[in-house]
This record gives sequence, C-alpha cells and structure tokens, in this order.
Amino acid sequence: MAKKYERVLLKLSGEALMGELSYGIDPAIVDSISDEIAKTVKEGLQVAIVVGGGNIFRGIKGAASGMERATADYIGMIATVMNAMTLQDALERKGIATRVQTAIEMQELAEPYIRRRAIRHLEKERVVIFGAGSGNPFFTTDTTAALRAAEINAEVVFKATKVDGIYDSDPKVNPNARRYQTLTYGHVLEKDLRVMDGTAIALCKDNSIPIIVFDISVPGNIYRALVGESLGTLVGG
Ligand code: UDP
Repeated sequence: MAKKYERVLLKLSGEALMGELSYGIDPAIVDSISDEIAKTVKEGLQVAIVVGGGNIFRGIKGAASGMERATADYIGMIATVMNAMTLQDALERKGIATRVQTAIEMQELAEPYIRRRAIRHLEKERVVIFGAGSGNPFFTTDTTAALRAAEINAEVVFKATKVDGIYDSDPKVNPNARRYQTLTYGHVLEKDLRVMDGTAIALCKDNSIPIIVFDISVPGNIYRALVGESLGTLVGG
C-alpha cells in the first residue's frame, strides 16, 4: 500500500506491551508490535515512538499509596525507559536501526533528547524511541507524545489503545455506545472523552496535529494505521 505520511509519531502505552499479562512486558507482543513497525519503516516511513510505563509503574498510583508524587513520577519515567529499551532491542533484531533518546540523561544506555538529532535520525531511516517521558513530573507520556510530535514536525499522532476508537459512552458498559469516525479537539475536551489527557489534546489542537486513536489488539492494525488506512477515530480541527 502506498504510504500517506512521511513522518509519524506512535504513542504506545506501557499496557500495550503487557498483552494479556497483568504486569510487565510480554516478549511475544513486543515482537509482533515491532514486526509491524519494521514493515512500515522498510516502506520508507519515518517513525518516532513515545512509550509509556503503566505496565510497570504509574506515578499517580504510587502517590495514592503515600509516596511523594514527584518521586513516584520519576520512577514512572524510569519505567518508560525499560520499555523503550525493550522495544529498541526487538526492532534491532528485525534489522531496523534505532536510537533511544531519554528526557532524563542516562548516557550509558541512551542518547539524551536532542531535537535536531532526533530529526536527523529519522531522516536516516532510524526509528527514534523517546524514553523518560517529558522529563517532568506531573506530566504523562500522552502529553509527551503531543510535545515530541510538535517538536519533530510529525504529521500525526497515533494513539494505540485497546478499543477501536472513541465512543460516546463506554462500549464495555453500554452495548449501544456509538463510535465516532471523526471528532474535533474541542468536542473531546468539552465532553471530557478520556482518550488522551486534556494537556495532550490541547497541545495537538494548538499545533494542528491530528490524533488517530486505533485498536492495537487487532493484528496488522499498527501497520494499517501507520500507512494511512482509515481506522479508529480521527481527532482533528
Ligand atoms: N511520567 C511523568 N512525566 C512524563 C511522562 C511520564 O512523570 O512526562 C510518569 C508518570 O508517573 C506516569 C508514568 O511516568 O504515570 C508512566 O507514564 P504513563 O502513565 O503516561 O504511561 P502509559 O499510561 O502510557 O503506560
């Protein structure tokens, strides 16, 4: 299939790497996710990835059990680096050149985040995986995805989830829930449709970056979405 985009940002939640497990990383899932990403890169797509950490640690949960929130968030950011390195390893085993860039310096294991360098890697057909979120507590990796997409001039943010788009109510609870094909940023914010946090949506809105929410649990969907097949729900202007 002819690709539609030149440069995209894929947001993978930590949970996407967990598969059916209740914690951690399922190597078989990481392998199949990497397969699909590798296929798009081999077709000439520039792919940047922001990976979450919720499969290992979430700051808000740590804070709920009494930890200081900022400390808990830093632990969450470190969790994302584990996922980033796992993904890097899987992609490289498929012959794809990659770089992990972290927002908190860990120079023994990854490059620091340098915007111009990230862009250069993408131009050289390397997948760039952004770890450690934005480097700031009280933020999320969804917001990081919107931020990095704006910084590297990605044409679109793909948000991989476990549902096939955005619904007017929870499809797991309401069998009559309707899926939206397209939605405006304003609608998502107004109705508080919890697809990405408000900061991420607002950042995409301000920079006119469309968001495509799609179901990662269907095999082949990452490939289909990234090459531009119409899937899930498009949030835009
Ligand atoms: N986090 C943070 N700042 C950021 C990004 C992430 O403090 O810029 C922390 C936060 O504690 C968060 C955790 O890292 O809970 C893991 O990220 P997230 O919850 O966004 O991962 P996902 O839900 O995508 O798996």
